[in-house]
Amino acid sequence: MQHTKPRVIIVGAGFAGIFAARELAGGPCEVLIIDRNNAHTFMPLLYQVATAAVESEHIAAPVRGIIRALGRRAANLDFLMAEVQAVDLAQRVLTAEGQDGNILRLPYDYLLLAPGSVTNTFGVPGADAHAYSLKNLEEAVRLRNHILRSFEAAAWTANPAERLNRLCFIVVGGGPTGVELAGAMAELMAGALKRDFPRLGLDRPCVTLLEAGDDLLPGFPDSLRAYARKKLTALGVDVRVNAQVSSVGPQGVELKDGASLHAATTVWTAGVKGEPLAARLGMPQAPNGQLLARPSLQSPEHDQIFLAGDICRADHQGRPLPMFAPPAIQEGRHAAHNILRLLRKQEVRPFRYLDKGMMATIGKRAAVARLGPLKLKGLPAWLLWLAIHLAYLIGFRNRLFVLANWAVDYFLSERAVRLITRRNPLE
Ligand SMILES: Cc1cc2nc3c(=O)[nH]c(=O)nc-3n(C[C@H](O)[C@H](O)[C@H](O)COP(=O)(O)OP(=O)(O)OC[C@H]3O[C@@H](n4cnc5c(N)ncnc54)[C@H](O)[C@@H]3O)c2cc1C
Repeated sequence: MQHTKPRVIIVGAGFAGIFAARELAGGPCEVLIIDRNNAHTFMPLLYQVATAAVESEHIAAPVRGIIRALGRRAANLDFLMAEVQAVDLAQRVLTAEGQDGNILRLPYDYLLLAPGSVTNTFGVPGADAHAYSLKNLEEAVRLRNHILRSFEAAAWTANPAERLNRLCFIVVGGGPTGVELAGAMAELMAGALKRDFPRLGLDRPCVTLLEAGDDLLPGFPDSLRAYARKKLTALGVDVRVNAQVSSVGPQGVELKDGASLHAATTVWTAGVKGEPLAARLGMPQAPNGQLLARPSLQSPEHDQIFLAGDICRADHQGRPLPMFAPPAIQEGRHAAHNILRLLRKQEVRPFRYLDKGMMATIGKRAAVARLGPLKLKGLPAWLLWLAIHLAYLIGFRNRLFVLANWAVDYFLSERAVRLITRRNPLE
């Protein structure tokens, strides 16, 4: 296909990529969004897929549908489902493997790199082999299947110690993902699973949350961290701080202080690092694999390459921005605006992060939120959390179904998606 207008390629249809594409719709350029998946995933609700609260397809939206919903002004947007493999920085050509296995060579005038991040196990022995992670839809469904299968297996395990081990779960990492997952697992086990498995006689959930630092939810005000700890404990989660994991095995974890904890399942939510594609590009990297960016979000050595989202090391008030959705959205938009400025022969502008706050949910009617100087906890924070997550979830149908599942959970303590799915044998 001949391109008469400059071509912008966006790598990644996550928060940064999709919000950038929306800004570029109708612009004086051809835009190609590339992702290995054909859908944008709303990561903040992955833990709800893993705990049988919502269906996986309700937290994802097809990229082509997102483009179509933008109407006629999106005529300059296109999508390619492919795995990006390399970028020839000198020739300005990107290489990607398409669905038929063919290698595509795609020239670009501007490149926006937004491929996100992957789980970081920090080289802890056994973590990659034995711990479950939660970074995409497949992993969320795998964890849900595993939790439910553990209960099915425990129900027919005669040996009491072995049975208990199958019913115990360790979550490593006391950030928002670990807190939300541990709380949701405890509620699942104390509610729907307790009723589904009456003969197991579960009197309390067996979920342990381990945090290496001295408190949960780093970056949150102390009062909200204390509230989160209290609420998790009330749900039956065994919260342990200053508990650094030194190794992970099939039957539990060892801690740095020599203690060992037994559980057949460990879930690792303790960190992320830049997507490995970044290492193959030969661009300056931070130790955690993120790509360094100029204040304009351009790569230090390439004016036509922009970075946004988890892959981008941008600073705010002298500290690196956290790898969260709001920075990704704002960086994606800003990078797109700067590309449009360059297309119009204008100067690029530096990125300034607008800190709207942070939030995490712990369980039903329990969440924490910091909005500027305002600190919220309990029901008001929880309602705010629900409203914001519904607003950012893409697609009316998705919002409707997620809301319906939340209502069922809220009023009946029922988890709608207690399904163990198998791979399609015809695949
Ligand atoms: C379980 C979980 C819960 C979270 N909860 C919250 C929360 O409550 N609040 C919050 O603010 N943040 C949360 N986050 C973090 C937030 O989701 C990320 O910061 C955000 O998704 C980053 O956006 P992004 O666009 O940089 O990357 P992503 O959203 O990860 O998107 C990257 C995209 O790039 C694609 N891609 C990567 N490499 C390639 C390649 N080589 N070829 C083709 N495509 C590629 C991927 O398929 C993906 O679609 C959570 C993250 C997780 C994992």
